[in-house]
Amino acid sequence: MCSSDRDVRDDYTKTCKRRKEDSLFYWFIPILDCAHGRERPSLHPRIGVHAVRNSPKHIGWIEVICGPMFSGKTEELIRRVKRAIYGKQRVQVFKPKLDARYHPLRLVSHSHQQFTSIPIERSEDILTALDAQTQVLAVDEVQFLGLALVPICETAANRGLQVICAGLDQDYLGNPFEPMPQLLAIAEQITKLLAICVVCGNPANRSQRVISRGERLVVGATEAYEARCRRCFVPSPVEATPPQTLDLFEDPGGKRGLF
Ligand SMILES: [Zn+2]
Repeated sequence: MCSSDRDVRDDYTKTCKRRKEDSLFYWFIPILDCAHGRERPSLHPRIGVHAVRNSPKHIGWIEVICGPMFSGKTEELIRRVKRAIYGKQRVQVFKPKLDARYHPLRLVSHSHQQFTSIPIERSEDILTALDAQTQVLAVDEVQFLGLALVPICETAANRGLQVICAGLDQDYLGNPFEPMPQLLAIAEQITKLLAICVVCGNPANRSQRVISRGERLVVGATEAYEARCRRCFVPSPVEATPPQTLDLFEDPGGKRGLF
């Protein structure tokens, strides 16, 4: 073996040894830290990079819940808000005043899960109503609030808040629905929910309009929209699919029906 080959082999052996030590370092340090209740060191002593974290600590961030109508976005938002409250976090929930389908002051899902919320006319109202002590900021139906919501979420996350936004990602024509594309771009965590196509039963990611109105913003529930897959979706209002005989949810008013 010539000397250059030997040098290469020695370098390779040293590199392997160093990598083995590094990997041991990463395995053992968290275990030792857990045992002693200490913080894991943020800097690797040799290569100078931060240790990897799987969940945020001492920083804010943005979570987005998106999908079509009837995919359970509001229910998922309520679940996360309730979880934060059980964790004794200070939470504020906002929703657009425009969306008073079920209740003017409460966040209500199509299946009638409820939560108290602050109604707002514009995104800027969030800044006015935001309490300095708030740790979790939740906003539902963001498609009614426009692009002005994006810098507000960014500012809140930069201040250290956990920001949770829920809303439609496509309009009734199947086009990206602002501000959702921008929120998806800046979010740390994204949950895309699907509904069930009322025509064929496939997973549905579109909201089919079933009343003949051409405005982009039309507030409604089953009388105005139904969930459809990409094959059954038509980018214009169509006649509603006839209801089935299922009767799964009960209206709080006592009237039974499909919601
Ligand atoms: Zn379908």
